[in-house]
Amino acid sequence: MASDETFEALLIEEVDGKPRAGITTLRLSDLPDHEVLVEVAYSTLNYKDGLAVTGKGRIARRLPLVAGIDLAGTVKESSSPDWNPGDKVIINGWGLSETEWGGYSRYQRVRPEWLIRLPEAFSLEQAMAIGTAGYTAALCVEALETWGLPEGREVLVTGAAGGVGSVAIALLAARGHKVTASTGREETHDYLRGLGASDFVHRDELKQEGRPLQKERWGGAVDTVGSQILANVLAQSCYGSAVTACGLAAGTDLPATVLPHILRSVALIGIDSVMAPAAKRESAWALLAESLSHDHLAQMTQVEPLSRVPELAEEILAGKIRGRVVIKIGN
Ligand code: NDP
Repeated sequence: MASDETFEALLIEEVDGKPRAGITTLRLSDLPDHEVLVEVAYSTLNYKDGLAVTGKGRIARRLPLVAGIDLAGTVKESSSPDWNPGDKVIINGWGLSETEWGGYSRYQRVRPEWLIRLPEAFSLEQAMAIGTAGYTAALCVEALETWGLPEGREVLVTGAAGGVGSVAIALLAARGHKVTASTGREETHDYLRGLGASDFVHRDELKQEGRPLQKERWGGAVDTVGSQILANVLAQSCYGSAVTACGLAAGTDLPATVLPHILRSVALIGIDSVMAPAAKRESAWALLAESLSHDHLAQMTQVEPLSRVPELAEEILAGKIRGRVVIKIGN
């Protein structure tokens, strides 16, 4: 391809000592010098993209930098023996939008080891409807099932109407678990019931400061919010159960005690999607292919153009986005 071909991208630059994101025109020669050139069809909007694009979180650490932590597209050129022109591929994480140029760009050059082949079960658009949020939900579900989810006990999902929460509910319910959703938005109850939630807890109930050990209720939990809510979830977890922690939408603190861990053998399992090794990624995507209904995925997804990302970034941080947002790149 001609190195002077131009295309649109969302670039974060430093202006007056602060990061500022905007749509700009790039050339192929502007891209990093990695082995595989991908024509990007779709990216996504995750909470971390919200933090990066608004500059409200220190996500982009090497400016200028193209934002977007996910991408899905087609290999155009490759000097790696592992990939050929025409291959359909996706990337989740690996430092995209942090220290590496990301998916909000018609073209991107990437390292071969970051790519995974598009699973047969999904189109490029569906893979981005899942995106980092959905793949993280799968990592959480897999960790809970590996630990062991007792039969008949409720599994709690916090931040239920968000991206990770929506996919976690759909996966857990499809795999036969009884799911309780914690949301601050009562208007999402019908939507969450449609994904498989059978009961609800208002998030304000879990926000109150509580005793270190409370009535045992949860046979497992996927927590996407942290802070006091996670502390209460741990305090309400049944003997021998596990809670996965992946998010910080309510805060980065954890005002908890060791009592649930040392008196009830409750496990707190940390989940990181960014640097997860290839084998974990593959099994998370296999779980998604096996258990995520395409109808559920369509119900939780809206598709938006790249030009709306700055506005949507503010909305996701304000907790106003329901489910998942796919960003369509190009025409
Ligand atoms: P979303 O914004 O889509 O979902 C977050 C949800 O959290 C909201 O929808 C809302 O749910 C709830 N929420 C928002 N603000 C608050 C608040 N102040 N107090 C309590 N609840 C709140 O984000 P994602 O699903 O993309 O990500 C969820 C979290 O997981 C984020 O913190 C993100 O950074 C993290 N994450 C971590 C990953 C990892 O690798 N560890 C990977 C992917 C995400 P509701 O309206 O239902 O109450």
